[in-house]
Amino acid sequence: MSAYTPRDVRTLGEMFIRAAERHPGKAVRTFSPERSLTFERLARDGHTVAAGLRSLGVRPAAPVAVLVQSPLDFLRVTGGVVLAGAVMVPLAVSAGFNKAFLARMRQVLADSGSRFAVIDDAYADALAEVASDLQVIPLSRVLADQGGAPAQEPFPPPEVGEEDLALIQYTSGSTSAPRGVALTHRNILAGIRVLQRGAGAQDGDVLCHWLPLSHDMGLFSTLGAIAAGLDIGVSAPQDFIKRPEEWLRWFCDLGATMYAGPSSGYRYLLDSIPPEEVPCYDLSAVRVMLNGAEPIDPDLVTGFQRHFAPAGLAPEVMTPCYGLAEATLAVTFAPVGGSAQVDWVDRDLLNNAGEAKPATPGDVTARGVVNCGEPVPEVEVRIVADGLAVAERVVGDIEIRGEPVMRGYHREATATVSADGWCPTGDLGYFAGSALHVTGRRKEMIIFAGRNHYPEDVEARVRPVEGVYQRRAVAVVLPADPGAGRPERIGVLAEVTSALPPYDDRVSDIRAAAAEELGGASVDVVLLGRNGLLRTTSGKFQRLLMRGRLLDGTLARVLTHVAADERVF
Ligand code: ATP
Ligand code: MG
Repeated sequence: MSAYTPRDVRTLGEMFIRAAERHPGKAVRTFSPERSLTFERLARDGHTVAAGLRSLGVRPAAPVAVLVQSPLDFLRVTGGVVLAGAVMVPLAVSAGFNKAFLARMRQVLADSGSRFAVIDDAYADALAEVASDLQVIPLSRVLADQGGAPAQEPFPPPEVGEEDLALIQYTSGSTSAPRGVALTHRNILAGIRVLQRGAGAQDGDVLCHWLPLSHDMGLFSTLGAIAAGLDIGVSAPQDFIKRPEEWLRWFCDLGATMYAGPSSGYRYLLDSIPPEEVPCYDLSAVRVMLNGAEPIDPDLVTGFQRHFAPAGLAPEVMTPCYGLAEATLAVTFAPVGGSAQVDWVDRDLLNNAGEAKPATPGDVTARGVVNCGEPVPEVEVRIVADGLAVAERVVGDIEIRGEPVMRGYHREATATVSADGWCPTGDLGYFAGSALHVTGRRKEMIIFAGRNHYPEDVEARVRPVEGVYQRRAVAVVLPADPGAGRPERIGVLAEVTSALPPYDDRVSDIRAAAAEELGGASVDVVLLGRNGLLRTTSGKFQRLLMRGRLLDGTLARVLTHVAADERVF
């Protein structure tokens, strides 16, 4: 039986209340520490938080920044903010208050216009120091009434409507400073319905993931599951990274039937569970594993399914999907249970003529592009080149329009969304039949000596090189440096496993691997220590930021930088 949010639920606050009324005993569980929160309790705590916020002067429509680590508390506060009619501004949690984190926080606070921030008690003082005009609310202050408090009187419904702003979701910041996607209640509820339908949510499903709730994929998949009345397991990403075996056991013990995550998370699981241990896990209950938020590695799709088959994982569960914060979350889904499909196309024609011509699967001149499925009915997708919609199998810019799609970035000076509602995504792709295939991001495309390359193609060659730490490598184009007498070249930056020299072999191996994609192009190789590659809070590589840091000499953890014209023995 399907489990979709009823049409008459028009605001996120109502969504929490309705979920509590319809599914009071369903719960959100956490991995470490193991805790649980029923939907009934979640709505009640949300009311407590809302009352607390109001008493502190938060008015409807006021942006409230939220920096809370525990997933359960994060959800309580989300409920509270929306029930108070205020606007939720999720802030990404960081391991520490380092410079980059503070800079990001200042930017998000200023851009969102937040005058209130609900924050974990441990960080409250530090935040108060960096933002003097901000009213910092320690979490314990708004959760104060919790713990056996009697049910409150029915809370007055929030004074907001479906067209009011509900949440400002900051993009990951993969290609520029994070931008505030302004989402109304209507956008989000439409986005949630899209997720429920696209993932084929059914009564009795259990969603389990490790995604941060401050990021669109973690937040909206969780809200979608609450609205659908599903049991949910959420862990912090760092617990998944630290203890993948235990995490997977917890996933199995919860009887999880649904999972959502990016390609890199699938790779991490595959690398973390040795083949001989796979049969110790039982994944036979899993019906759907959404794979999105990042480019999907085609080898991984088959590799993951094969690896986990001895745990009873059905081969057809991985469901590629494409989405972005600007669309609340999801735009396309491959059919659930349809087994992921890869479209093999001629790489040279794809890169240089923008043509996706079918080629022999696995051929060295071919690229496998994962089929991300059809657009959901609520979102129209078009591929545009030079202002015109293009034909099937022609690459162009992906644009989206529809009910879950934002009307614009928060307080932007020039409109991003056209008057007729089309929103550019910054992504490139093509349609094959009615299925979208995403090929990369326009801004990250490497244009070198009159030829185009997707960084992912170069990286796919370099990442498996021995000594590259956890497949962490990126490719960028470096402009000519006349002062140093250097022409334009390509930079490959890779984290390496050991800080010990000799690096020369690695540099040669990386160069040889890159040459498989780039031919005789000049390649600078930069070896970095662990965590030397800059990534977003959602774990995506920030290629352009690293390129800038490399060029201005501020890139940290550089072990060696061998320019294209320097000899390596
Ligand atoms: P910023 O916009 O700040 O640079 P971001 O685009 O990474 O950051 P998100 O909204 O978190 O912010 O991510 C959406 C992006 O993720 C998409 O625009 C696309 O580039 C990428 N993405 C999502 N799903 C897929 C997919 N299935 N295949 C390839 N790329 C994907
Ligand atoms: Mg983006």
